[in-house]
Amino acid sequence: MYIACPKCAWRHPGGAFWRCTCGHVWDTFATHGVCPQCATTHRITQCPTCFQRSDHEEWYHDDDDLTVEEYLANPERVAQPIVVPVEG
Ligand SMILES: [Zn+2]
Ligand SMILES: [Zn+2]
Repeated sequence: MYIACPKCAWRHPGGAFWRCTCGHVWDTFATHGVCPQCATTHRITQCPTCFQRSDHEEWYHDDDDLTVEEYLANPERVAQPIVVPVEG
C-alpha cells in the first residue's frame, strides 16, 4: 500500500505536510486524518503539490495499481540491491 494524491499522483514521502485548523502541523496519514492535538477528524485532504482536495480514503492505493509511469516518477520505489557487509 502506498499513499498518493488521487489528482496529481504526488507520492507522499512521509512527513508533516498538513496544518489543522488548530494550528498543529503533522502527517495526516500517520493518524488517518485525525489531528493529534485537538482530535479533529479531517475527511478531506488537500494536496501540498496541486492543492486539490480529495477524500482522505482516496489517497490510499494498493501496490497492484502501480503503473510503469508511477515507478519511473518515483525512483525511490525501485528495488535496491542488498548491501552485503564485507567481512575481514
Ligand atoms: Zn496533488
Ligand atoms: Zn487540530
